[in-house]
Amino acid sequence: MSQSYVIVGDGIAGASAAETLREEDPEADITILTDEGEALYNRILIKEFAKGKLPEAPISIHDESWYDDRDVDLELNTLVTNIDPDAHTVTAHDGTEYEYDKLLLAIGGTPTQLPVENSDAEGIHHFWTFQDARNIKEHMEQAENSVVIGAGLLGIDLAAITAAQDVEGKYLMRGKAWWRYALSQDGAEIIHNALRERNVEPVFDSGVDHFEVDDEDRVTTAVDPNGDHYDADFVGIAIGLNFNTEILRGTDIEYDNGIYVDEYMRTNHDDIFAAGDITEFHDLILGERAQNGAWGSAKEQGTIAAKNMVDYGTEEFRWVSSYSITHFDFPFLSFGHPTLGDDHVEAKYSDTEWRRLAIKDGKIVGGVLIGDLSPQTKYKKLMREQVDISGQKETLVKQDFELEDLEGAAAEQ
Ligand SMILES: Cc1cc2nc3c(=O)[nH]c(=O)nc-3n(C[C@H](O)[C@H](O)[C@H](O)COP(=O)(O)OP(=O)(O)OC[C@H]3O[C@@H](n4cnc5c(N)ncnc54)[C@H](O)[C@@H]3O)c2cc1C
Repeated sequence: MSQSYVIVGDGIAGASAAETLREEDPEADITILTDEGEALYNRILIKEFAKGKLPEAPISIHDESWYDDRDVDLELNTLVTNIDPDAHTVTAHDGTEYEYDKLLLAIGGTPTQLPVENSDAEGIHHFWTFQDARNIKEHMEQAENSVVIGAGLLGIDLAAITAAQDVEGKYLMRGKAWWRYALSQDGAEIIHNALRERNVEPVFDSGVDHFEVDDEDRVTTAVDPNGDHYDADFVGIAIGLNFNTEILRGTDIEYDNGIYVDEYMRTNHDDIFAAGDITEFHDLILGERAQNGAWGSAKEQGTIAAKNMVDYGTEEFRWVSSYSITHFDFPFLSFGHPTLGDDHVEAKYSDTEWRRLAIKDGKIVGGVLIGDLSPQTKYKKLMREQVDISGQKETLVKQDFELEDLEGAAAEQ
């Protein structure tokens, strides 16, 4: 008898799982349920669309015929509201019930709202879906001034959209530096200067206390905790994600911030798996539970989950994730878990070249490279192979670092 697989979420994790399931199990019934109104698109590229640099077409990855060709039933505009692990069913908002033998939850997250007065006013945007990007682009093309909040990897996309659309911007940050948990002041200053050159002014020790609105409930001003006022008819907020765990309430599927899975992407239920941003997975390299928010990692988790749904134990998830920023004249890459670790080493080489490695128990667990990405393969190899670099951290950040420069066991890797 053929197996039935139900996947909730048609992001990169869900869609890549469907592709692998079809390859591994040609006879299976495969259904994907998504609350979005369109099939898989490239979430990484929606910022280029909002900047006005790319038309819509290349952002779409699969049209509906892709699913038909693989005999995958894609149900758009279908929000799953309930899971019954005992009955092996999920229920959608319209009451339709779907039975499964194996279930994959690839349900990602939703942008966190700012808990301040008027944060739901017209003109205030969050950024996760293609539809968000369309709204942002349309508004930004008419905007006069903008405020961006959220000093991280998505906030900088909003700041770059402001810059590309020639809108004067203020980027309000809570501390003294952009992405202060991964970059030092030296590294962040490279980003601050690049923003200033593009007419986006970083404002430090700031944030938002409340927004002011006009008679039509449109945002006019962001007021920061110091009482300073910033005119803005466009506001972009990117302060993090709330992972979509509401549908797990009332089940005994284990989760905290995300859904707990083992290295095979399986939850505490034998027939329920999870993949992508939503998972808190057992990171074999880090040696502890971790969560990734990156396209490549989500894709790989979808593929690994599918293999293990067909045959549990086939392949484990072991991955160094990467995330690049391409808005500036210099390249930028973060990898692994750059905000973790008990130690670090960094070096600055020029006004646009800088590196920092995060270290835990004498091993690299992540890093950020600005300006010169050439050592990334070496650092990722050392991280993946958990090479002990204790006592040699300064060698790692020599500008022309080679693996042979490391002494002893590390050098033989
Ligand atoms: C603007 C932007 C830029 C980015 N840039 C980069 C980058 O440069 N590099 C990088 O590595 N990563 C980047 N990312 C992050 C990357 O896109 C994500 O890590 C990746 O898309 C996660 O994929 P996923 O499939 O796990 O989740 P998602 O893509 O979030 O997909 C989850 C899907 O599940 C659906 N869903 C949720 N709950 C339900 C439910 N109950 N019923 C039905 N459907 C449901 C959601 O609507 C969504 O379609 C960026 C993200 C954004 C928003």
